[in-house]
Amino acid sequence: MSEYYNVADIFGEDVFTDKVMQERLPKKVYKALKKTIEEGTELDLATADVIAAAMKDWAIEKGATHYTHWFQPLTGVTAEKHDSFITAPNPDGTILMEFSGKELIKGEPDASSFPSGGLRATFEARGYTAWDCTSPAFVRHDAAGAILCIPTAFCSYTGEALDQKTPLLRSMEAINVQSLRLLRLFGNTTSKKVTPSVGPEQEYFLVDEKKFLQRKDLIFTGRTLFGAMPPKGQEMDDHYFGTIRQRIASFMKDVNEQLWKLGVSAKTQHNEVAPAQHELAPIYAEANVAVDHNQIIMQTLKRVACQHGMKCLLHEKPFAGVNGSGKHNNWSITTDDGINLLEPGKTPHENIQFLLVLTCILKAVDIHADLLRESAADPGNDHRLGANEAPPAIISVFLGEQLEDVFTQLISTGTATHSIKGGVLETGVKTLPNLAKDATDRNRTSPFAFTGNKFEFRMVGSRDSIASPNIVLNTIVAEAFSDACDVLEKAENFDEAVHDLIKQYAKEHQRIIFNGNGYSDEWVEEAERRGLPNIKSMVEAIPALTTDKSVKLFEKYGVFTKAELVSREEIKYETYAKTINIEAKAMIDIASKQIIPAVIKYTKSLADTVNAVVQAGAEASVQIELLNETSALLSDTKVALAKLIDVAAQAGQMSEGPEQASYFHDVVVPAMEELRAPVDELEMIVDKEMWPMPSYGDLIFEV
Ligand code: ADP
Ligand code: MG
Repeated sequence: MSEYYNVADIFGEDVFTDKVMQERLPKKVYKALKKTIEEGTELDLATADVIAAAMKDWAIEKGATHYTHWFQPLTGVTAEKHDSFITAPNPDGTILMEFSGKELIKGEPDASSFPSGGLRATFEARGYTAWDCTSPAFVRHDAAGAILCIPTAFCSYTGEALDQKTPLLRSMEAINVQSLRLLRLFGNTTSKKVTPSVGPEQEYFLVDEKKFLQRKDLIFTGRTLFGAMPPKGQEMDDHYFGTIRQRIASFMKDVNEQLWKLGVSAKTQHNEVAPAQHELAPIYAEANVAVDHNQIIMQTLKRVACQHGMKCLLHEKPFAGVNGSGKHNNWSITTDDGINLLEPGKTPHENIQFLLVLTCILKAVDIHADLLRESAADPGNDHRLGANEAPPAIISVFLGEQLEDVFTQLISTGTATHSIKGGVLETGVKTLPNLAKDATDRNRTSPFAFTGNKFEFRMVGSRDSIASPNIVLNTIVAEAFSDACDVLEKAENFDEAVHDLIKQYAKEHQRIIFNGNGYSDEWVEEAERRGLPNIKSMVEAIPALTTDKSVKLFEKYGVFTKAELVSREEIKYETYAKTINIEAKAMIDIASKQIIPAVIKYTKSLADTVNAVVQAGAEASVQIELLNETSALLSDTKVALAKLIDVAAQAGQMSEGPEQASYFHDVVVPAMEELRAPVDELEMIVDKEMWPMPSYGDLIFEV
């Protein structure tokens, strides 16, 4: 491609878009498919055959040789199995390229090796993938050639969801139904569908591939397990929004180009707070498309990084001492005719529908704070949440000055009579325009912040799928809407009833509102006084999945069965234990085979030096002091290593489940920290030439 091009010309060129469907499908077939997409009606096989044939022809023109049902098992990443379009050779030795409606609609990967959390024994390997026609198919070009990717849901023989997409689609249906109920109460007769929209901001690190390959910890675990801080960290704030270096800029250019072709609306890119850290945000899309696109973004970042001789680190905490990475999940709910239910308007105090929606969300977040917290729990995120760089582990809602003021009025007098106005920002420079000022400033320390016409859930980890948080958000808000509708549908005087309900919710759930500094110790104390949960780790967060409250919620709205929740709980414990086990084993390996031998070499060279110096009749006290210091730290390292080996072995003996996961968290993780401490000190002493791996400074300042 020439260096300069018009984005509009390439956007979505590898996507089986609505436009392509209109061009290539017979009118009747197109209409039937649209009806399925919009209303969820079933697609008959004859229609599916026509769609499949058109899709295949289109894909082959793009160079595709294979198709795949692209799905999201409970591993956090996507899975695929490629089938080529070829048929068995004809008698004359030629082949045809075929793709049937049946193959489009349903796939049957041998599913026995995907985590199912006991939902399916390995001998019952049957799992099915089913076409999600609400997320468009696309052709992906990579080293494997061109592959037609069909987004699919993945479930077991008995219909249980083994993936992230199925419950997400179910939760979208739940919030659709309940939002419509609520809108009807306010006299809306025209909206036919309500959909959650999601815009995830993706953070990531880039490091040089050659250096990456010299770090076994990065290779095996995605994060550094050892590493002393360089003289400079992020304290100068000179990286954030800084000029993007040429190597990175050229990477971003390729990422954007590839994403645009795949119909992903990559919009914003900038350097993040930590050195070597960056961010990419697309324009928001319907929740299930946003989830799929976020997976595509993560894969594209990784692939393009390799093409540029770099590695993209999506781990939540690749480096201790500088900020980790997260994913801000921007969420709103919008009708098919363009009404955003979270739009307050200029005078929110008069916008009764908005105030009800808002108080319902406050209620949902307050009651189900534990589920939201759980939805952002993964092993990497344990290093971020509550560590004064990411939101605290306590869930609270930031409303901002204007809405908080409306709330205060509601709670104290029962009615809100005015809204604080935004006003004008005067720059004090005549040649600069005066800017309209928002009625509210931002608060970066809040985990759940209202930002104008959407909520921003800031806890999500950078590597995690955004499906879980959105499943929880959709379902808890659906429940709150449903509860409100139950009351209001029966009310004799609607205006009075809605007024009372808003006031009641505002009063009952005001404890969840917090506009102050979420990083402060005072907030931790204050939150405790308010009775808000402070769930510090993934292991402590997991039980929220299967409480009676959770089972009742998810079963009522048909999002998860109890069995599906139990399976997810099991998988989460397993994931945690396996992750820490790999990290512990990697540490043991690196310490035993790389660090201790390197330090021994260094002590030998020091000892040789001491001898030589003494023989020369000179004073060797500095060398001797260094030698003693190094030997002492070496001995500390050996002791800590022995302990880690011991506790990791014990953890391995335990049967899988909460007890084992807790042991990893309570015993193995601290043992890992004990081993890291002397090693990081040694790194500051030992000759750099002898240190067996690139330093933090090499990794994050020399990309
Ligand atoms: P920031 O919060 O970093 O200033 P923006 O507010 O511009 O950035 O947007 C961050 C993300 O939120 C983007 O992906 C954007 O498309 C998305 N977003 C904007 N409006 C909405 C909305 N109404 N619903 C959901 N996401 C939205
Ligand atoms: Mg943001």
